[in-house]
Amino acid sequence: MIRVGSRAMASSELVATAAEVRERVAAARADGKAIGLVPTMGALHEGHLTLMRRARAESGYVVVSIFVNPTQFVAGEDFERYPRDLAGDGKLCGSVGADLILAPEVSEVYPPGDSTWVEVTGALVEGMCAPHRPGHFRGVTTVCARLFNIVRPDRAYFGEKDYQQLQVVKRMVRDLKFPLEVIPVPTVREPDGMAMSSRNAYLSPEERKAAVSLSRALFAAGDLADAGERDTHKLVAAARAVTQAEPLLRLQYLELRDAETLETVTHVERPVVLAVAALVGRARLIDNVVMVPGFSVDRIERDVYHEGDVKKGQGARR
Ligand code: AMP
Repeated sequence: MIRVGSRAMASSELVATAAEVRERVAAARADGKAIGLVPTMGALHEGHLTLMRRARAESGYVVVSIFVNPTQFVAGEDFERYPRDLAGDGKLCGSVGADLILAPEVSEVYPPGDSTWVEVTGALVEGMCAPHRPGHFRGVTTVCARLFNIVRPDRAYFGEKDYQQLQVVKRMVRDLKFPLEVIPVPTVREPDGMAMSSRNAYLSPEERKAAVSLSRALFAAGDLADAGERDTHKLVAAARAVTQAEPLLRLQYLELRDAETLETVTHVERPVVLAVAALVGRARLIDNVVMVPGFSVDRIERDVYHEGDVKKGQGARR
């Protein structure tokens, strides 16, 4: 136990190897516990902690992986300078009651001589972030497949903030029949609406003010959809107008796509995702909102609809 002031805080056990994880997980399973995995790249914030709390509430044994995965960074991106703070992250994991932290070296996940990739193909990886980050999703699915095989969780928690990643991982799990459930967790935002991200740390105060235009743009389109607008072009144009008013934003894409297949749509009839990516200073930021016809974006952001509803194409209260 670590004592902080008068408050007792549980600490999470820290391990670095697959063998250590396997041993701990086997013991938890022998105790009849279900295993929840929260994969992260560290520099933890409230978004990550929300995933962990959800895992804590649903699974008897919670594993958090902290691994800045080199294969999902494209040449010239921020792999080297990505924020790393294992000591701070460890405390945060302990504060939400995570049982185990796996913080492996690169050579533990990708042993020398290794030559296996896992790649989803098709519409899910053709638009949005894919053309701007060639090879990124192949790196994501490869590391997730490896982490799933190391930890063998019953559930793995992913944020809707990385919407395309979530859909790609879900497809991999389905296609390869990994025996686990992917649990999506709604985006956690700052009080002004900006999506929390480890990369927000790169922003100067001036850039941080500019960056809020991303969520504002999405919510402007959401308001229009709430008012009954179903024309994709008009919804995208409303969002684009907000981003164009901010000179510090360099937009990479602003796209409205089917929420499940990520195919382009011209008219909103089923749930759709409006997704954006932009460069602000040194940071590449992404955000999205899901719009469900008949359901307001605000209510969705407050998590009043769930996964299955997207498939049924209608909203429903929990
Ligand atoms: P990362 O460390 O950025 O790779 O993120 C690890 C996990 O946390 C991913 O599943 C992300 O989608 C999720 N995540 C990151 N930021 C947020 C956020 N603001 N709200 C919800 N989930 C998030």
